[in-house]
This record gives sequence, C-alpha cells and structure tokens, in this order.
Amino acid sequence: MDFEFTPEQNAIRKHMREFAEREIAPKAQMNDRECKFDWDIAKKIFAEGFLGCPIPEQYGGLGQDYIAYGLMTEEVNRVCSSTRTLFSVQTSLVALTILRWGTEEQKQALLPKLCNGEFIGCYGLTEPEAGSDAANQQTRAVKDGSDYLLSGQKTWISCGTIASHALVFATVDPKLGHKGITCFIVDTKSKGFTAAAIKGKLGLRASDTASLFLDEVRVPEENILGGLGNGFKVAMSALDNGRYSVAAGAVGLVQGCIDACTEYSMVRKTFGKPIGEHQQVQAMIADMVADCEAGRLLYLRAGHLKNKGVRNTLETSLAKLFCGEAANKAGHNAVQIFGGYGYSDEYPVERYFRDAKVLNIYEGTREVQRMIIAQDALGIRYANGQPSGKPTALAAVV
Ligand SMILES: Cc1cc2nc3c(=O)[nH]c(=O)nc-3n(C[C@H](O)[C@H](O)[C@H](O)COP(=O)(O)OP(=O)(O)OC[C@H]3O[C@@H](n4cnc5c(N)ncnc54)[C@H](O)[C@@H]3O)c2cc1C
Repeated sequence: MDFEFTPEQNAIRKHMREFAEREIAPKAQMNDRECKFDWDIAKKIFAEGFLGCPIPEQYGGLGQDYIAYGLMTEEVNRVCSSTRTLFSVQTSLVALTILRWGTEEQKQALLPKLCNGEFIGCYGLTEPEAGSDAANQQTRAVKDGSDYLLSGQKTWISCGTIASHALVFATVDPKLGHKGITCFIVDTKSKGFTAAAIKGKLGLRASDTASLFLDEVRVPEENILGGLGNGFKVAMSALDNGRYSVAAGAVGLVQGCIDACTEYSMVRKTFGKPIGEHQQVQAMIADMVADCEAGRLLYLRAGHLKNKGVRNTLETSLAKLFCGEAANKAGHNAVQIFGGYGYSDEYPVERYFRDAKVLNIYEGTREVQRMIIAQDALGIRYANGQPSGKPTALAAVV
C-alpha cells in the first residue's frame, strides 16, 4: 500500500489549488448571492482542459488518473461547491459515461468537445416521480422509423439550461421494468426540448439546476448510448463515477471549513484569549480534521480501484456516505465556531453549511448509500457483484 502521491498528482493538485484561489474563490460569495452561473470562470476552466482530466489524450482529455481527478475536484470544492458540480456532471456523469459506453463514433464526436467546453453535458435521470426509485422512469421513447420520439419530464438536472447535450433516460416499454430503460444522447436544440431553471435553492446557488421537458423530441437510433435496454446499467455506472467526485468534493468542503476555522479561531478572542484555545472549539476542529483525513482515504481508495479497473460500487458508496456526512457536520460546526459572524455571508462558512446539504441528497441520498452498504454487509445484494469484505453469517449461506 502506497500513501504517496506521484509528482504528477501533486503538481495537478497544486495547479488546481492556485487556480481555484485565484479565479474561483474571489467570486464565489457574489455568484452565490446573485445565484449566477459564472461563464467567465467556466471559460477559464475549459481553457485549462480541467474538465477532461481523467479522459484519455486521444479523446482530447488530460489523460490523468482518478487520483489526480479526485484531488482536482477536492481543490475546486475547497472554495466553491457550485463550481465543483460542473466537474461532477460534465466529467463524471457525462464524459466518463460516454467513454465507458459510447461507440467509437460517439466518443470521437463528443468527448473532445466535452473536454474543451465547446459542448456542455447534463445527466437526466431524475423525474418528478423517480428519484431514489430511479427504475420508475416515466419518460417514454417510442420508435418511429429509425428514430425514437422522447416525451416526459426530468427534474433537478444540474447544468440543464446551459447544456448542449443531455443524457436522457427513457423507457421503450414500461412493462419491461428497468430492462426497458435506454439512454439517449439528446441535442438540446432539438424541437420539443425545453429547460426551465429551478429557483430558490438552499445551496449550490451558483450552479445551474433545471427541469427538462420533452415533447416528442426526435432522436436518431444511433444516439442510443450503451445499447437498447441497457440504460439502467449505464445510469448506475455513471453514478459510480459521479459519487466519486461528490465524495472528493465533500472532502474539499471539509478542508475549506478547517482552513476558515483555524484562521478565525486564532484571531477571534473571548475571555482574554483566542477561541482556538478553548477546548470545546478545539474539539470541533479536531473532529473536522479527523473526518477530513478519513474521508480522503476513503475516496482515494475508491479512486485507486477505479484506476485498476476493478468494480468499486461499494467503496464509492462508503466514500460518498462518509464524506457527505462529514461535510454536513463540518459546515454545521464551522458556523458555530464563527458564532454570529458565521450567520452572514461576510464569511464563507454559511455557504459551506448550505452547500453541504446536497451532498447527502444528490447522486443517491445518504439513505440509498446506507441501503447499498447494509445490503452488501448482510449478503442480501453484493454491491460489487460478489462478496468484497469479510464473509458474514448471511453471506456464507446466500
Ligand atoms: C441541487 C440538485 C442537483 C441535482 N442534479 C441532478 C442531476 O444532474 N441529474 C439527476 O438525474 N438528478 C439530479 N438531482 C436529483 C437527485 O439525484 C434526487 O433528488 C435524489 O436522487 C433523491 O430523489 P428525490 O428527490 O426524488 O427523493 P425521494 O426519492 O422521494 O426520497 C425522499 C426521501 O426518502 C428517502 N428514501 C427514499 N427511498 C428510500 C428507501 N428505500 N429507504 C430509505 N429511505 C428512502 C430518501 O433517502 C429521501 O430522504 C439533483 C438534486 C439536487 C437537489
């Protein structure tokens, strides 16, 4: 087991930290206040090629591994969760899914432009009646010659109003259950496709979130991703990558809380000494540091397995659950450490507190992660398709 980063991984982390400090952090508070997706920041991210971090160079990416990608994502989220969401969607949910399931033509046509930001992707799985129960897709795909006509509604779709292409999951036959679900690559300029921004969010205010409406949107057969009826597998494999970036991002949020709190605690004085010298404040900081270190190891282990090409649904779920919970605890305690000042957006911790909540909602709620983990431990359903931990009494008999 090697706990050292390679010189290349360290260089990417350092480069991303400097970029995030210089380009993202100074505008994060105002973008949050104005609920503004910042195209200037996005264009700088595109120009650096960051969105193609784990995509092979032959498809326009940086050709880096999942560890480098995790570290990059962490550094972005250390200053801004909204900006990190762009990475989770464009790189993890869309580009890596096309890399895994796409035909050579689809990869050639889409990946270079997703890496350089010419195309923006979104991932349309959730519907008004299908969130945790993702197999309950109501969006229909009806065959019409060599095309399909897609009709239905998606909701809570990140990057939904800015996307040029959407991965839309729809059923070709509701009687087939999850085996009827198919993933379509949809050009958002198609007739019958509209998107409406969702306003009034608790957090991620500088991230674009939308409902998508499809009214007989014509999609050619060659835009099916991963084959007819394989959409549920495509969706779940995408979430394995999305949850990884969410876990890494959550660790970044915890690190952001630590950085803000350690600085403030040595400056703010009560009872004649810095609050950092009070044991109860130290305890909150100690918990943040311990959670940050543990969370980082969990997501890096998942990244290591991804690099090896080994199934890692369990390890990714563990990382997503733990890191999401850690981020919520850290955000909560960071506001506490700042006292009344933590309650205003003069300091970033109230944004961290609000932005943390979505980490245990999207890409599978914390309850869904617990379901995956517990079912694996009990031997009811192995997350990686086979026992991955110590055999339990139940696992031995299943
Ligand atoms: C800001 C934001 C961005 C998002 N971006 C995207 C995106 O880009 N693409 C996309 O497809 N979706 C996206 N989502 C949607 C997100 O993935 C869903 O909200 C999430 O999966 C939960 O689904 P739901 O909201 O329908 O809640 P429900 O599924 O209705 O769940 C409600 C509550 O019940 C619990 N629950 C449900 N079933 C069980 C069970 N079997 N056991 C125990 N508890 C259970 C849940 O954990 C939750 O606490 C986004 C959401 C948000 C808030």
